[in-house]
Amino acid sequence: MENLKQRIQRYNKIFDEYQNKQKESFKTIEGKIPVLISAPHSVRQLREGKIKGKDQLTGAMVIEIAKQTQCFGIYKTHNNQDDASYDIENNNYKEKVLQIIYENQIQIFLDIHGAKNTEQFDVDIGTDEKRNLNGKTEILNNLIKELKRNEIKNIGIDKKFKANTLHTLTKKIAINTNIACMQIEFTKKYRDINQIQNLEKALNAIINWIKNNRS
Ligand SMILES: [Zn+2]
Repeated sequence: MENLKQRIQRYNKIFDEYQNKQKESFKTIEGKIPVLISAPHSVRQLREGKIKGKDQLTGAMVIEIAKQTQCFGIYKTHNNQDDASYDIENNNYKEKVLQIIYENQIQIFLDIHGAKNTEQFDVDIGTDEKRNLNGKTEILNNLIKELKRNEIKNIGIDKKFKANTLHTLTKKIAINTNIACMQIEFTKKYRDINQIQNLEKALNAIINWIKNNRS
């Protein structure tokens, strides 16, 4: 039986653009419950003419979470010279996210990102002072509860990554729908294949949160 580390390593190959000559810029996962999770920085992106590094393991995290919960998923597979969480207009990824939400009556959108390790927080949840939740504050409270239950205790809310401009996917979706939207930045120590216990905590928190929001 493949363990978590082996599964994550296998999923992660999709995001190695040197090995993998993907032409499609993103892939989607069909779900069965009205939750959509996203990793727009799972490969490198182009922002204001500069290449930016990927948010390591966020794509593999989306695949694992979608498999465990049967939620919908979307992630980048190829740098098509865009930035799905920065470009305001004419971004295929953003348009696809909206389409999945409309066609499947999605109720919760979570955009997963990666940040550097910092004393400030283990994770930072971007809500634009809860405005992006469109009134569904309990969705955030449940997420905080699940993170704490999985020993992720230093939780920032809008500390550094606030998701308060139209550049962010979260803000764009929040103002174009009435569903609960959040951005979550996991620091590096939760996205490191050599710290698999931390990664497992991060995954379990999101998986349990999604499962509990169903009932
Ligand atoms: Zn990012």
